[in-house]
Amino acid sequence: MTGIAFPQHAPARAFEVVDGELAIGGIGLTRLAARVGRTPFYAYSRAAIATRVAELRTALPAAVQLHYAIKANPMPAVVQLLAGLTDGLDVASAREMKVALDTGTAPEHVSFAGPGKTEGEIAQAVAAGITLNLESELQLEQALAAGERLGVAPQLALRVNPAFELKASGMKMGGGPKQFGVDEELAPALAARIEAAGLKLRGFHIFSGSQNLSAEAVVDAQRKTVELGLRLAAGLARGIDWLNIGGGFGVPYFPREQPLDLAPIGEQLEGLCAQAQAAQGVPLVLELGRYLVAEAGIYVCRVLDRKVSQGHPFLVADGGLHHHLAASGNFGQVIRKNYPVAVGNRIDAADREVQTVVGPLCTPLDLLADRMEMARARPGDLIVVFQSGAYGPTASPAAFLSHPEVVEVLV
Ligand SMILES: *Cc1c(COP(=O)(O)O)cnc(C)c1O
Repeated sequence: MTGIAFPQHAPARAFEVVDGELAIGGIGLTRLAARVGRTPFYAYSRAAIATRVAELRTALPAAVQLHYAIKANPMPAVVQLLAGLTDGLDVASAREMKVALDTGTAPEHVSFAGPGKTEGEIAQAVAAGITLNLESELQLEQALAAGERLGVAPQLALRVNPAFELKASGMKMGGGPKQFGVDEELAPALAARIEAAGLKLRGFHIFSGSQNLSAEAVVDAQRKTVELGLRLAAGLARGIDWLNIGGGFGVPYFPREQPLDLAPIGEQLEGLCAQAQAAQGVPLVLELGRYLVAEAGIYVCRVLDRKVSQGHPFLVADGGLHHHLAASGNFGQVIRKNYPVAVGNRIDAADREVQTVVGPLCTPLDLLADRMEMARARPGDLIVVFQSGAYGPTASPAAFLSHPEVVEVLV
């Protein structure tokens, strides 16, 4: 796969250019748009996802188990593909649990995290035989009660909110007061309660943050996480079956961001795996969402109109924030920056211009590219937003302004 260089953004490595057009899954963009039948759409590349998992496996010790966190991209075809490439699936709702189980993944390889599980969801998870990553004492009692009612031994793990914080993370999900998991001081009491109920605690789940591009910060967090997990496990009569150390590997989206350097992470994990094996005889589990799918996906919309306002060219597209909130800058970002955006059917055209790409919604928030240099576009051209395989359609307000829903294809 050839890479496409963008002046200020990380290169889009997953795609090639054929006859001046971006191609995905070997299909030129114009032809793919004709096949899909309408714009806007998301296209995800099977080859890019498979390559990503293979590269990750090469960089990490073989003993590390790799899970896919479905919430990053729950399209059933994508989840099916990843079910075959990873060692397990992590879900965050009963509906994601259904998608995971529909792939044929065995329930013992599915786990369920989330600070607000309903009693109904807990009962569904117990009935399914998947592992519940418990995040409160009430969740624990409800799981035990569901097990009694159903005559099924619940598969229980404990999500722990560590006292340490993940440095340099895009989104912190541990350290300090948090709604996620139980504070590490409380974990021994809940673990004891599980053992007192005659059950083995399956494992600890310690997820401290997301979208991290600093290898140093990831290495630091993983070392502290394994230390904490093994310390907690040492106090148990029956031990554990695995230690889930979270993930949070980031991908570069914005100018000057660099891809995460896996080498130091893989290097340290060799030692941490050996440590977990020696202390408890258990594997480490990594759960990744974004990292596995983000760079494998593009969002494609069509230029409806081109207007010039006070000398500045605007491309008005048929897609925008209602399908791709993150690219508009409104999904957890403090300062808006441009995703990598290009005119996909004129990807390497020499006639270039600084243009602004906006969506069809009646709000100035509906912005896909703010004054970016790209091929000079005209109505009918196809705008591509790269790095769009994660947190796309399901992380966007699709109903806002009642435009048509977006289509998704895996090619
Ligand atoms: C969101 C989430 C993930 C996935 O995070 P990414 O940044 O997409 O890798 C994994 N585990 C848990 C518990 C999560 O909440």
